[in-house]
Amino acid sequence: FSAIKSGLAKTRDALLGELKGIVGAGKITDETLEELEEHLIKADVGVEAAFLLTDALRENALGKSLTTEQVLDIMRNEAERLLKDPPPFELKGKPHVVLVIGVNGAGKTTTIGKLAARLKNEGKKVMIAACDTFRAAAIDQLETWAQRSGAEFVKHQEGSDPAAVAYDACSAAVARGCDVVLIDTAGRLHNKDYLMEELKKIVRVIKKVSPDMPHDMWLVIDGNTGQNTINQTKIFNQSFPLTGLVVTKLDGTARGGSVLSIASSLQIPIRWVGMGERIDQLVEFNKRDYVDGLFE
Ligand code: GDP
Repeated sequence: FSAIKSGLAKTRDALLGELKGIVGAGKITDETLEELEEHLIKADVGVEAAFLLTDALRENALGKSLTTEQVLDIMRNEAERLLKDPPPFELKGKPHVVLVIGVNGAGKTTTIGKLAARLKNEGKKVMIAACDTFRAAAIDQLETWAQRSGAEFVKHQEGSDPAAVAYDACSAAVARGCDVVLIDTAGRLHNKDYLMEELKKIVRVIKKVSPDMPHDMWLVIDGNTGQNTINQTKIFNQSFPLTGLVVTKLDGTARGGSVLSIASSLQIPIRWVGMGERIDQLVEFNKRDYVDGLFE
């Protein structure tokens, strides 16, 4: 059992429980499909993905008497078609700089800690930069993760300029021969314009260290918030060329189907998924395991 598949147990229950009552009893009619679509939307698969899954059934199953397993197989194939595996994560610079963004509470700090630990285990020298300077507690929390993962850490005082911290961290990483820099940023979306300007300034300033920085810009989204995550992603993607998504808290949610709509409505690869609070519970996204988790 993969971590993704076992983490999706609640989502699977929410999805399959009712679905088995809707299909698998006689011919698939337009009414069956309508009921199914409504159920998928309620189970937070998202309107877009619900439409595509139902459409696949309309094409392949309308008017036929199929078993539940056959219906699930059709949906499974369509879901797999909607998803893409991320390209392998490669270090493109020395250091390779990743800007990690997302709204507060999405799981940025935890994800950075997990990533740092993972990269350290692969023998990489990792630096973490504390650019959410708004709250002292955020800096402390990130420092704890840096210690736990054995990463180097750059911070300034609370209230200082985030771009200055990023500049210092990237310069220090060059000087110390680090392989990766993970930059934590603020996530106060209620002050959206200010936040976007702050993030743009960080990008501008680290380009003075090296014009190819940052090499990646990952948005962390909470898998529990369903459809909302798509709106958040669109807001960030308008201002920044996101290179990957991290979907957290897929363990224990019944809304893990939202990943399908995220993938079908946005052309941004899902790179990592958070499957728990522990340091080792970050998994590289894999569409096979994910689809198994939904439909098996
Ligand atoms: P930030 O404000 O974006 O930096 O969010 P944090 O990293 O502080 O995470 C917010 C909360 O979500 C914390 O309680 C984390 O332990 C929890 N969390 C983060 N990632 C995961 C995950 O993959 N699974 C679960 N169950 N909890 C998570």
